Parts: sequence; C-alpha cells; structure tokens
Amino acid sequence: MNNILTEVLNEFEQIARIPRPSKHEDKIANYLVGRLISIGAEAFCDSVGNVIAEIEPTPGLEDKPVIIMQAHMDMVCVNSNERSDYNPMTDEINLIKDEHYLRAVGTSLGADDGMGIAIILYILQNQQEHGRQRVIFTVDEEVGMSGAAGLDKKYLDGNYLINIDSENADELVIGCAGSLKIELSRNIEWTKPELKSAYKINVTGLKGGHSGEVIHIKHTNAIKVMAQVIEQLNCEVASISGGRAMNVIPSECEAVIITDSDNVNEICDKAATAIKSHYDEPNIKIKAVSTDMPNKVISDKDKDSLLDVAGFLMDGLYDDETSANIGTIQIIEDKIHLQYMPRFHTKHGQSVMGHMAAEAARRSGYDINIHKPSPAWHSESNSLSQLMTDIGLKQGRQLTERIIHGGLECSFFSQKNPELTIISIGTTNIDIHSPKERLLLSSVEPTVNLLMETLSVINNVNDYTTKVVSLGEN
Ligand SMILES: [Zn+2]
Repeated sequence: MNNILTEVLNEFEQIARIPRPSKHEDKIANYLVGRLISIGAEAFCDSVGNVIAEIEPTPGLEDKPVIIMQAHMDMVCVNSNERSDYNPMTDEINLIKDEHYLRAVGTSLGADDGMGIAIILYILQNQQEHGRQRVIFTVDEEVGMSGAAGLDKKYLDGNYLINIDSENADELVIGCAGSLKIELSRNIEWTKPELKSAYKINVTGLKGGHSGEVIHIKHTNAIKVMAQVIEQLNCEVASISGGRAMNVIPSECEAVIITDSDNVNEICDKAATAIKSHYDEPNIKIKAVSTDMPNKVISDKDKDSLLDVAGFLMDGLYDDETSANIGTIQIIEDKIHLQYMPRFHTKHGQSVMGHMAAEAARRSGYDINIHKPSPAWHSESNSLSQLMTDIGLKQGRQLTERIIHGGLECSFFSQKNPELTIISIGTTNIDIHSPKERLLLSSVEPTVNLLMETLSVINNVNDYTTKVVSLGEN
C-alpha cells in the first residue's frame, strides 16, 4: 500500500511541470484531457475552460449513485529571492522532498490544488468496481471562481460531490462562508500643499493574514490604523496606499502627509502604543520620516471623506458568523480606490453587510460597486460527512466536521444543484499561497484511503449507512 504516496506524487510531479497561474489554464487543461482519456475516461473542456470527464460505470452498477470528484487546476504563483527569476507563465515548479514534506524551490508548491487533481487521477486508475462518476477540474478558483460560477449545472447532475481542495487531512468541511466583492471609489481634487513639513508615514508589522481564516483573531487593519493616525495629525494628505488583495488583512500601509505639527513622531508612537494595548499586535511600528515636499495634496473635503469611509466601513468581526475586511486602498490618477470584502454564512448576514457598505459609501460620498456574491454553503445534515467520519474511525482516525469562514467552489455547486450532498476534504497543505507552501507527506495515504473506502461503500451498497455499521462489527 505504500506505493499510494509514490504514485500520487508521480501524478503531481507531471502537473507541477506545467505552468498554471489563474486565468492561464490552457496548457494544464490540455494535459489533463489527454491524461484522462489515456486512463479511459471521456474528457473534454467546457465553454469556460473547465475539464470535465465522464467515467462509465462498471457493468451492473449503472444504478449506483453518481459521484462527482472535483479539484481546481490553477494555483497561486509566488516566489522568494531563492528563485527571483521565476516566471509563472513559463516556468515549472521545482520540487524538493525531505522526510516529512514536499515543497518547492523558491516558489509556491501548488499542492493547492495539484494534490486534489493527483489524488483523483490515482483513484481513477486504482479503484475497483464503481458506479457512474464524473470528474470536474475547474479554472480560476484562486482569483474569481469563474470556473465554478460558469459551470453548466448539467455537469452537477448527480448524488454526491467530493471537492478535494481543503488544507487539513483531519477535517471534513461541510460548509463555508459566502462573500461580497465590493469596490469603493471617489474622484478627488488636488490642491497645493499649505502646511510646512512633509513626512512619509509607514504602518508596518501587523499580523495580517487571510481574511477567511484569521479575521476572528484580535488583530487590526493597517488601513484603519493609518486613517486614525492621519486624523490625529491634523495634516494634508498627498498619497496613501496599503494592502495586497481584497481577501488579505493589510499588514502595512504607507502615506505621505504634510503638517505643521512638531511632534509627529510622538503622535505616531502614541498611536502604536494605543494599538498594542487594544489588540494582540506586539510588532506594530508606526514610523514617520521627513520626505520631499510633494507638489499636490488631496482637497480637505476629499481627506475628510477618506477618513469617513475608513471609519464607517465595518472591519473585523461583525458577529459570530459575519465579518468584513478593508483589503486595499490606493490612489490611481484622480481617484481613490478601496476594495472591501464581507463574508457571511447566512442570507441575513449577506444583506446586512451589503446595506452597511452601501450606507458607509453614501455617507462618505463614495461610489460603490457590489459584484455578484459568492453564496454561502452549508449542509444541515451531511450524510457524506457522517459516512466519512465512520470510515475514518474504522481506519483509526478521528475526523472533525468543520464549517470554514473562507470560500470554496462548493458554494456555487450547492447553489446550482441543492440536491447534491457535498463535502470538501484534502491533504494537509501548510502555508499555502506562499513560497513556504508544503505538503505533509504523511497526510496523502490516509486521504486516499478515506476516499477509496467512501467510494467503495457508496458503490457497493444502496443503503450504505447499514453497511458501515456492519463493517464496524468486523
Ligand atoms: Zn485551492
């Protein structure tokens, strides 16, 4: 059985050779269509670029439940200095394996979600008898989920969907948050600076992190902090920029301000001390250094409305199941832009957050653009997770059911076919979306075994709950 790991890693190695940043999945899709056909499936690309494969049932098992296995083809491509010449459009990922982990040399690994694909390819080649199955490899999970959103619902016709895109092998994910992608903007007027000294202010050292994973931890947002500093400084604002993406809590923000104040450093230090006493942010630094006098600053009115919008927008936890993140702020030409992302688990949460953002925009004189929401996904009672929990126990593992505050493509699948029983599982992938991304090798075989046993129980018995009970007695 220990060739499971070897065979899965062989599949993964082939995938890692093919560059696959989000929205550039043509090459990997071509490869996978070929690979699936060579395994004996009928495979093709749909109209949005997803790979679909139909697997005919073993004769006699045509009436068994239809099972869909799904993963995404794209990956977040980031690199460290170790591989500063990395070009995600053309370069392969170089793998390195030690006793415990598989990682990449100087880049993200793409176990998220190349391992999902590799495991599905392994299962197709190693399963015994099975009913009708479908495989879906989506595009663009990491940026816009346009593959899942654009998938024709006829491909979701079935009984069970197993998404292999979670990051902890000990968890069975049965729900996730929905989200709104919101852009706010305001045209600004420039004027000449009137005050005497220019400073560059940097807020750094905040914890940051993925807004779907750590928003509940007692930390703060660098854009909010910068707005408070600007408010206290009694200054003019020449520039402001902070944050990396809508779904990342900003850990840094920079601004150039002009002020008559003689105690800029003192005000910055005081603000940092205040943050430290309210939040678990021991490493925050707010530093001001003298800089060249800029030739223009935003008007007083625009500065006031900037402070208003930063103040009015709810940031952090709203309640136990609703949150929001001010992700980015920047000035491009004559416009200030903010990206804002609320997450929610209920329709009520979605509408509250949408209304609050619209009201914050109206009160501060900002235009607001709310994109089509990603729905929340939640399975009240999930027969698949119960089955997998039981199989896990039989295999000597205690699996935990979990509803995550991040987003998964399962949201779109459950919206398109509410009858589907859906679960999300995966190998243990650590520090994803970073050059430190690594796969815990010991998590591969248990994940494959869990899936194989789940499939065989579903394939062999109509009333599989009874079967599990009898298996437990063996
Ligand atoms: Zn993923």
